Amino acid sequence: MTPSKIVCVGRNYAAHARELGNELPQQPLLFLKPPSALLRSGEPIVLPPDSHQVEYEGEIAIVIGRRARHLSEAEALACVAGYAPLNDVTARDLQQLDVQFTRAKGFDTFCPVGPFGEAPLGDWRELEVRCRVNGVERQRGNARQLVFGIPQLLVFISRVMTLEAGDVIATGTPEGVGPLQDGDEVEVELMGVGRVINPVRASAPAA
Ligand code: ZN
Repeated sequence: MTPSKIVCVGRNYAAHARELGNELPQQPLLFLKPPSALLRSGEPIVLPPDSHQVEYEGEIAIVIGRRARHLSEAEALACVAGYAPLNDVTARDLQQLDVQFTRAKGFDTFCPVGPFGEAPLGDWRELEVRCRVNGVERQRGNARQLVFGIPQLLVFISRVMTLEAGDVIATGTPEGVGPLQDGDEVEVELMGVGRVINPVRASAPAA
């Protein structure tokens, strides 16, 4: 199912906010990625010629199972269909150049998402994400480290926008972000759930 939107949360791990020199937000910092950026496992992330610093961000993603708005914390988890590994691919140089994140986060192929729904839901606090580049681990994050936990995010986001079945929420990336280059292979694994693995390639030169 194509989501109506992909809602992302910035600076939601303290160590990652520090590594980019940012303060921790007082409330969740939200931005959107367009559904046109979605990518399946196995398909290539294409490096756009407009950026010279494209980076991986391994994240725990929430997949929404039914329409929800103005959720209370007690009922928030009932709208979750599953959790999935997600790579919030980011043109870091453009993110720093632009005031907001639309261009840096919005290129085609910049949102690989893995499978969900095959594993039982379990306790969200047990979710753990790992990111590897060419087989070498670069990131490891646990949902317990989230500044704003999953129920809090669902409450906060659903006060702003109606969540629809199939929508995806990316909960933020742990420390260890770094660059991707032509020929790399990047893998985000949500432990016990699944993996999304993508080759990286430079865009074809303009004809
Ligand atoms: Zn991110």
